Amino acid sequence: MANSFDVIILGGGPAGYVAAIRSAQLGMSTALVEKDKLGGVCVNIGCIPTKALLHSAYIARLLSNAKEFGVEAGSVKTDYGVAMQRSRRVSDQNSKGVEFLMKKHKVTVARGAGMLQPGRKVKVGSDVLEAKQAVLIATGSRVKGLPQIGLEINKTTVISSDEALLLEKAPPSLAVIGAGAVGMEFADIFHAFGTKITLIEALPRILPLEDAEASDTLARSYRKRGIEVIVGAKVKKGTAGKDKVALEVEAGGATQKIEVAAVLMAAGRAVNTEGIGLAECGVQVTDRGFIKVDATLQTTAPGYYAIGDVAGPPMLAHKGSREGVFVTELLAGKQPHPIKYDNVPSVTYCHPEVASIGLTEDQCKERKLDYVAGRFPFSANGRARGSGETEGFVKILRDKRYGEILGAHIVGAHASELIHELAVARENEYTVEEVELAIHAHPTMSEAVAEAALDSLGRVLNI
Ligand SMILES: Cc1cc2nc3c(=O)[nH]c(=O)nc-3n(C[C@H](O)[C@H](O)[C@H](O)COP(=O)(O)OP(=O)(O)OC[C@H]3O[C@@H](n4cnc5c(N)ncnc54)[C@H](O)[C@@H]3O)c2cc1C
Repeated sequence: MANSFDVIILGGGPAGYVAAIRSAQLGMSTALVEKDKLGGVCVNIGCIPTKALLHSAYIARLLSNAKEFGVEAGSVKTDYGVAMQRSRRVSDQNSKGVEFLMKKHKVTVARGAGMLQPGRKVKVGSDVLEAKQAVLIATGSRVKGLPQIGLEINKTTVISSDEALLLEKAPPSLAVIGAGAVGMEFADIFHAFGTKITLIEALPRILPLEDAEASDTLARSYRKRGIEVIVGAKVKKGTAGKDKVALEVEAGGATQKIEVAAVLMAAGRAVNTEGIGLAECGVQVTDRGFIKVDATLQTTAPGYYAIGDVAGPPMLAHKGSREGVFVTELLAGKQPHPIKYDNVPSVTYCHPEVASIGLTEDQCKERKLDYVAGRFPFSANGRARGSGETEGFVKILRDKRYGEILGAHIVGAHASELIHELAVARENEYTVEEVELAIHAHPTMSEAVAEAALDSLGRVLNI
């Protein structure tokens, strides 16, 4: 292997592999170092397999209610093992897709654990690769348990998303600890596969980073489906046995004992910054453990950049990919569009989906902004009624004076797709008037976006 490259990227997740593609497109010789499967957490044990499983869950729910739509599906049987195998095939296909992209763009892939060395070098096995321009650190993150309460991940009764994605059978009962995106998605998946779910969240509401109305709507939806949701809860103790786990959970001033077949730890992730030679190269980390970067994503060591989860929140694939594009364009002498971290869409792909961008209503209040909230429920949307997906709403927060979109929140079917109209609008500083001015096809769920914009202007039509 030729050992000198313009750019070397450590880690082949969505931050690293996208950076590799863009770097190569810009004519820089590029090496990507990966110790595992290409595509990282996202492709192999994150975004992609969970979405495949969520689709299986969606089909299970749809078939259970098919009679209402005039379709007799008989008794619906689910098999998590089959759904899991399908999700693995989807992930593998995507990982192979990344391999193909590396070949297509003539990116050199160095297989093995890379170790940073001073002088913009990366050691992989017995090879030492050298970067003429820069080393990009994109080593991502991993699950972390709660060993302090006795809940160390044991891969059988106390599992993380890594193991949940490989189970052959859905457990009869499951406590999901942490009601962020990952916890919410797995609660949805396993519930559809017949598992009795207890969802436990330490903060006062599920999806704590989302708008309070979105959290409340989702909590109602989950409870209606028979999922037990316990918020403001502290897991005081966990005792993992061979085939069950006993939990002591304190919530609302009382302590309850919960016994489940398994616990899924979905609370937080740790970044992969240990043992990769950061200190030796002068790369510092923040108090929270992320790699310290400046506005150009350069670390404290010149010539070393950090992108993706290691560079800080939000820990999302699309944020990492954009950082990869940004840094490589900068290295190629371009002037990339600055990354607007306040305009990164956030999506939870559970049922109903939750998607948002910008400020929540509470944040508008905290900042003492003069805002107006416009809302439109999917129960008043013809397309949503037609498909029987009337749960949820679109909510747009607009600046009272100028009509600027301060934040947008969608709960409902296809929220993950609908949010992008508002992402484009915010990125380009369109006002609510400009969003509404575009004619929205009828009947579509997107009409609810236009109607919420109208509602914020006091001109809603269909309610
Ligand atoms: C269950 C789950 C579901 C998720 N769903 C979504 C979602 O729907 N949407 C979304 O945006 N985000 C989602 N995420 C988060 C998303 O997966 C991460 O934000 C994203 O993968 C981060 O990308 P990255 O490139 O920074 O790192 P990673 O994807 O973690 O990739 C880092 C890569 O670096 C490699 N590596 C690490 N150290 C070394 C080394 N020393 N040498 C060589 N290689 C190394 C690793 O093997 C890995 O392949 C989900 C996460 C989980 C766990």
